[in-house]
Amino acid sequence: MATNNAHKLEEIRQILGEAYTVKGLADIGCHEDIPETADTLEGNALQKARYVSERYGVDCFADDTGLEVSALGGAPGIYTARFGAMNGYGESHDAKANIRCLLDQLEGKSDRRARFRTAIALIQGGKEYLFEGIVEGTILEEERGDEGFGYDPVFAPVEAGGKAFAEMSAEAKNEISHRGRATQKLVAFLRH
Ligand code: IMP
Repeated sequence: MATNNAHKLEEIRQILGEAYTVKGLADIGCHEDIPETADTLEGNALQKARYVSERYGVDCFADDTGLEVSALGGAPGIYTARFGAMNGYGESHDAKANIRCLLDQLEGKSDRRARFRTAIALIQGGKEYLFEGIVEGTILEEERGDEGFGYDPVFAPVEAGGKAFAEMSAEAKNEISHRGRATQKLVAFLRH
């Protein structure tokens, strides 16, 4: 998997189970900053998977995730990790800053609908495949829970009856999450 994110590797290993060994970038000696300059989630996932596959001669998959908020016209989308930093709230990838930025932008708005969308690109035997996972939900007015990462304290998936992702166990989140769903499609494909 074209990532150095230990949390993601752990999550994906949990979803795939013991039948698979998932290697991360460190495991193949890749310590480069892989470019992510496309204008869609799919484009970014493909860019990362191609980069690793071409340079390291391995089959590879990569993911890219965006939060798409209705009242913000689908933003922040591909800019989700940098949302706070782009608007003057802290550093890129700072979860607290991202959340503050999001809550401020939604202040006073009654439409709190949002979705997480993940695109996974797989390169296997020189062929390219794309898988998508979506979870619909709402943005809470304030943070709840201590689990997970990123926007989890303010995202309440429709299926969880009002609970935030950060109030759910990793297993319960994986069942319904954007990445979980995209990964389930990837796994179904790999097993067929
Ligand atoms: P990435 O493409 O997985 O790096 O994610 C892009 C942005 O979305 C980062 O700011 C992540 O923190 C956020 N994000 C991705 N997945 C989740 C999730 O499952 N919960 C909360 N935030 C997430």
